[in-house]
Amino acid sequence: MKYPLTRAGLVALAMLICFWSSVSGKEPVCHGCGKQIVQREYMSVDGLNFHAACFRCAQCGQPITGEVRKQDTLYYHRECYEKHLSLWCAICGGEIVGDYVRDYWGNVYHTAHVDQSPRCEYCGRFITDKTSQGGYRYDDGRMICGICRESAIVDWETAQRLMDDIADTLAIFDVDVDAADISLALVGKKTMNERAESISNVLSGLTVHDVQTLGDAVVTDEYTIYALTGMPRQCFLKVMAHELMHVWLGSHAAADAIITEGSCNYAAYLVLGRYDDPLVRYQLDQMVADSDAVYGSGFRAVKTFVDEHGVPYWLNYLKTNTSLPE
Ligand SMILES: [Zn+2]
Ligand SMILES: [Zn+2]
Ligand SMILES: [Zn+2]
Ligand SMILES: [Zn+2]
Ligand SMILES: [Zn+2]
Repeated sequence: MKYPLTRAGLVALAMLICFWSSVSGKEPVCHGCGKQIVQREYMSVDGLNFHAACFRCAQCGQPITGEVRKQDTLYYHRECYEKHLSLWCAICGGEIVGDYVRDYWGNVYHTAHVDQSPRCEYCGRFITDKTSQGGYRYDDGRMICGICRESAIVDWETAQRLMDDIADTLAIFDVDVDAADISLALVGKKTMNERAESISNVLSGLTVHDVQTLGDAVVTDEYTIYALTGMPRQCFLKVMAHELMHVWLGSHAAADAIITEGSCNYAAYLVLGRYDDPLVRYQLDQMVADSDAVYGSGFRAVKTFVDEHGVPYWLNYLKTNTSLPE
């Protein structure tokens, strides 16, 4: 979200009914029709002169009498302006004049609310009864809105089924991962950070590859995927596609962070691209615009690479290379 935006030039103007005096000798020119004003009675607005019949509403085209509103260089009846052009705050319902915020979903807000209202971690909406059907704070501090919470994945069976579905979708692109060999755990942030052995506020998923050897023999070779519990379905899909790609990569080259995380995000991009859903589009837009030096830059670099060479070439490249070409 970029803000503040400004609702510029919205002013209530007073119209002057003027009487030019022939004594001054110069007849004013109408800003509307360009002709001289020979009537003694005319309008003067913002220093511009009009025949009364030429001062018209940019919305309905009728002459303006009474209160007038201005937006940019155009004038409106107050009623026409409020009905067709005014912005109304999605939180307090008041009219917006001056700085405001527009969220991804098209809602506009007074900037004053930005610091007062929490935002949903998953869709970016301000959490209020009006804008997001309320919201909820998880034990680990994450805020989720009422809309996202409707599809939140909180039980292991559903998560497992979705993981299988995503593995099937990845297989369409020849990313073959056997989900049956992977343990899946739904966890809160605390456990996630413990498993990751780092403190991160953005970590939603984690793949741990546990390999133990005894002499030359491999006695353990297991993957565990950790995903945050309570993510909306669409975010879970993204996280799971990303993590399954880590598993696929795990059996290939040990690569740098840019190509690794970029490729995992690209796999998520391929999977999400098969769904037509507003929150999926939000996820994709976030991924494309992500300013993160690894996840965002990596994704864009891999996307450029795949756009040029195609998916089969990319997957083959990953098997024998540890970084993208310079
Ligand atoms: Zn005129
Ligand atoms: Zn009008
Ligand atoms: Zn407001
Ligand atoms: Zn939400
Ligand atoms: Zn990753």
